[in-house]
Amino acid sequence: MDIYPTALKLTDDRHLLIDWSDGQRRRYGFKALRDACPCATCREKRSTPQDPLALPMLGAAQLQPVAIVGMKPVGNYAYTIAFSDGHDTGIYSFELLRELGTPG
Ligand SMILES: [Zn+2]
Repeated sequence: MDIYPTALKLTDDRHLLIDWSDGQRRRYGFKALRDACPCATCREKRSTPQDPLALPMLGAAQLQPVAIVGMKPVGNYAYTIAFSDGHDTGIYSFELLRELGTPG
């Protein structure tokens, strides 16, 4: 993958903006990014069918809209994203990030 982010920015309307080396700009909703977390725990959670009769146990943190609190580069191919719910183990490859964002 020879396309890489050249600038990261958090907007006031709760989006992440990434400028890419090929000149494209993509927007990412915080929640969409959190929901797409590629770590093993989240992948397993997503692949487990939800019991329609069960109410999820929501802690106070989960009732708050999730936000990005930090991003750290991993090598030259990915970022770890730390979220306000305390989750920071997802490694978002540039390839994944390119798939997720919306142009603009
Ligand atoms: Zn995760």
